[in-house]
Amino acid sequence: MADQLSPAHVERWVHGFVDAVEEAGDHLTDLDRRSGDGDFGTNMVTALRRSREVLAGADTSTAGAPFQVMGETFLAHSGGTSGPLFGMWFRDFGKVGADAGALTLAMVAEATANGWATLARLGSAKVGDRTMVDAIAPASEALATAVDDGSGLVEGLRSAAEAARRGADGTSDLLGRRGRTSYVGESALGSPDPGAVTIALFYRTAVEAATA
Ligand code: ADP
Ligand code: MG
Repeated sequence: MADQLSPAHVERWVHGFVDAVEEAGDHLTDLDRRSGDGDFGTNMVTALRRSREVLAGADTSTAGAPFQVMGETFLAHSGGTSGPLFGMWFRDFGKVGADAGALTLAMVAEATANGWATLARLGSAKVGDRTMVDAIAPASEALATAVDDGSGLVEGLRSAAEAARRGADGTSDLLGRRGRTSYVGESALGSPDPGAVTIALFYRTAVEAATA
């Protein structure tokens, strides 16, 4: 099992994430229909397909390069609210890994904390507002604890994946306060927020890439 994520691991992570979101696309759109307007899966899948094409021809020799590609592609080719937010999220991972030969757990923790801060600044979402932040915040806290405890890469990523999934599940009980979900009120209750579910997939596929 890897103790750092090489550029090949990061590429596997990004491809695994693209595949997982594409596979979940209809389900994510359905979740967005319950809590917003139903364009989330389509927005994501369009940008992810484009990312896959760009990745195939890109120089991915540093650990941050696949994320830089994702960030730029999402910022240029995605719609909705989530597209640009995911673009900025990937860009923060790309920045931390720029010029790096591998990503350590501490770097994943740093990128997560930076990404959280960026999204909070751009979208003003706080924990409990029923957004992707509700999966990012617990993942970030789990990663910080794992780094402080000296956990291994896989152990730390696993704790982040579990925390993100619990956070995403918990959005089922939250009323939306940001974006379109704030207009649908109680009818969203019982279904999780699609952005938060997507963040849970992001960390699940990190574990899969590190253990493959
Ligand atoms: P739209 O609301 O424009 O249809 P999308 O369907 O593309 O946007 O994306 C909805 C997702 O975006 C939500 O599931 C939520 O996680 C995320 N989101 C919406 N607004 C915010 C915000 N202000 N901050 C963080 N995430 C947000
Ligand atoms: Mg939507």
